[in-house]
Amino acid sequence: MDNTALILIVSMNILLILVLGGFGFFIYKLIKNQQRPPQASAEPQAPSVIPLAADYHPEIVERIKGLEKIKASRRAELFCPNHPDEPGEASCGICDHLFCKACIKPFKALHFCKEHMPLMMKNDWEEVLTLQTSTEDPEQGVKLYDIKKKIFQDKSIPTYIETHYKINVDQDYVETYLVLFAIKSDVPVLKENLEVFQSLH
Ligand SMILES: [Zn+2]
Ligand SMILES: [Zn+2]
Repeated sequence: MDNTALILIVSMNILLILVLGGFGFFIYKLIKNQQRPPQASAEPQAPSVIPLAADYHPEIVERIKGLEKIKASRRAELFCPNHPDEPGEASCGICDHLFCKACIKPFKALHFCKEHMPLMMKNDWEEVLTLQTSTEDPEQGVKLYDIKKKIFQDKSIPTYIETHYKINVDQDYVETYLVLFAIKSDVPVLKENLEVFQSLH
């Protein structure tokens, strides 16, 4: 084989590599452009993960990771469980979860999710207890909401709380009452449990 043929083969190979490389790069660009969401560059977004510098102390790295986890779970709580991209509009009167507009509807000055609206409509609800709240002791009201949540989580008994107002004309004062409602058949069990829950504090 003479030199000219050798040079020709080598240069053909180099040309082939260049053409293949160029083609590969073109394909890569094409795929990359397709993967990019249309308006990604339009609104700048905060990075979801704090970049970890390699020289951070391991304990600090652990703490940053912990914070990221808390942030993620908070985000999950604030967004609709059925539509993770939709922020919660209102919380369900029974399960207390936040839902988006499409997943929650108003009823009786409260809101109920798709799962609990039928429960609300189909049952006879009865007053379990009434608590007068005052601005001097707002803790009482908070406690009732905590008890309500606990009853639902621990005992799976659905309840809801209505706020009633009464104007005390003589003393020019608005009285606020929190009324806890439960399904009629649950009321006896609930009254027993309420004693247990209330004796806890
Ligand atoms: Zn619900
Ligand atoms: Zn939703």
